[in-house]
Amino acid sequence: MKKVFIFALVLLIFSSMFAADVVYKRDETLYAGGGMWAPPSNWSPITPWNAVTGTVGLLYETLFNYDPLTDTLIPWLAESGKWTSNKTYEIKLRKGMTWHDGHPLTSKDVKFTYELAKQIPEIYYSPVWNWLAKIDTPDDYTVVFTFSSPRYHEWSYDLYQNPILPEHIWAKKSKDDVLTGANEKAIGSGAYLFETYGTDRMIYLRNDNWWGNKVFGQPKPKRIVYLTVSSNNVALGMIMKGELDCSNFFLPGIPTLKKTYTDIHTWFDKEPYMLSDNTAYLFFNTTIKPLNDPNLRRALAYAIDPTIIAKNVYEGQVLPSNNVGFLPIKGWMKFYPENAVKQYGFKYDPKTARSLLDKAGYKDVNKDGYREAPDGSKFKIEISVPYGWTDWMESAKIIAAQFVQVGINAEAKFPDYSKYNDDLISGKFSAAISNSGSQMTISPWTSFNWLFNSPISENMYNGNFGKYNNQKLFDLVTQLNSTPMDDTAANKKVIEQIAEIFLKDMPAIPLWYNGMWFEASTQVWKGWPSEKTPYAYPTTWGGRWQTGGVMMLIGLKQ
Ligand code: CA
Repeated sequence: MKKVFIFALVLLIFSSMFAADVVYKRDETLYAGGGMWAPPSNWSPITPWNAVTGTVGLLYETLFNYDPLTDTLIPWLAESGKWTSNKTYEIKLRKGMTWHDGHPLTSKDVKFTYELAKQIPEIYYSPVWNWLAKIDTPDDYTVVFTFSSPRYHEWSYDLYQNPILPEHIWAKKSKDDVLTGANEKAIGSGAYLFETYGTDRMIYLRNDNWWGNKVFGQPKPKRIVYLTVSSNNVALGMIMKGELDCSNFFLPGIPTLKKTYTDIHTWFDKEPYMLSDNTAYLFFNTTIKPLNDPNLRRALAYAIDPTIIAKNVYEGQVLPSNNVGFLPIKGWMKFYPENAVKQYGFKYDPKTARSLLDKAGYKDVNKDGYREAPDGSKFKIEISVPYGWTDWMESAKIIAAQFVQVGINAEAKFPDYSKYNDDLISGKFSAAISNSGSQMTISPWTSFNWLFNSPISENMYNGNFGKYNNQKLFDLVTQLNSTPMDDTAANKKVIEQIAEIFLKDMPAIPLWYNGMWFEASTQVWKGWPSEKTPYAYPTTWGGRWQTGGVMMLIGLKQ
């Protein structure tokens, strides 16, 4: 007995070492990084923000995918989906789909996935039941969602965001296991299988029985080795040597290196090299004096020159934001509020900033070089960004210097990430840069819902970090959500009103677009998507594979 036990133990130790050290056939393997920051330990679609990247997208799948390049919802597990009345959305599932263990995937799994969150209100998507009334499954392939008060924008987002679970596995789990289980050896429906993992890598094996092979084509890499990489510099070296095929890291130096290393691929061959993926905003704490004064916040918008940041900090790898933080993607720009921007927009113009400050009563009374508040009190704006986020640290310093230029005492401040985040959520800051909810989605509503999140509470976990309180604006964001997505004119009308309030009150200032960082090596894999062949949005970030990552795997060549 003892011998067997030791043998098993030795085998166990060997097999876990094996995961890290085994050499896979190079031309069958894709090495990727930029979306995993800790040793793999969670594959739960119920806690996707903690899960290894690919948990949603590669293992578990969504009803639709979304392609931001063409602004199209791509039927995925769903073969089609449509509003059959203003309160009912009907989905037809594809036939012949199976889970990784061979069980058929049917309408019952979809119904179960949603109803699980009704039973267990701690599940992140359970608030859908505030506006979803019931789900019917007239047959194995039809799902009818009936809403009490439909939220069209949110629903379009959920359709490609929420992974569908296998009922035959998840119905047997305890509540605790559902909520906090690691879900190792996850059984999904996707193009890749959970193979193994090591401390610095997750290894996915291609699912040769994937239902999608017949629909979309088979992904080219037999294996994906997803790596944690200790620093951006290490990632840069790996890209140059061809050890990393696909990187979603921000890599300083790419514009220069591309000139020498012709096998480094980026989306654009010249500036800005990267697609724009999310908007960095400067939030102001609107609950403290004098930052509660919209005149001050608006004047400061004129003091910031984001083009300097784009050039000096990002070497031209990012673009300055437009006035309302709208990403330059089809799905958002079709709603762009040009009238509000024309009437209330701002631009870098320190002269205007100074005159607006003068007019609002901000003057240097004691002649120390900085303006005092209208009541004569001294103040200083501290701009918080997490320590170690070198690009943001540099940017915060530039903004502080630009504030000083117009006579506002300001300084960049670098707390460690957890303090930065706690301060942001609890409102213990004067100004802070954040992009946590401004990422590319199917609708600018997601970004508004983050910027103007309501109601205001002690801790703001989901945005509106400066606790800007404006019920009229909150109502408009709700109204936008309840406007059918295909009524462009009606959506634009609401967005014009939102933008007017935003630009007049400036609770946050849009700065620049962080890139969809993407550097690929053409040494092993070719056919990467680019401006010239824009077949997929090149992302392998957690929760984002279904916005292009999987399509990229299908489109690769050798
Ligand atoms: Ca002064």
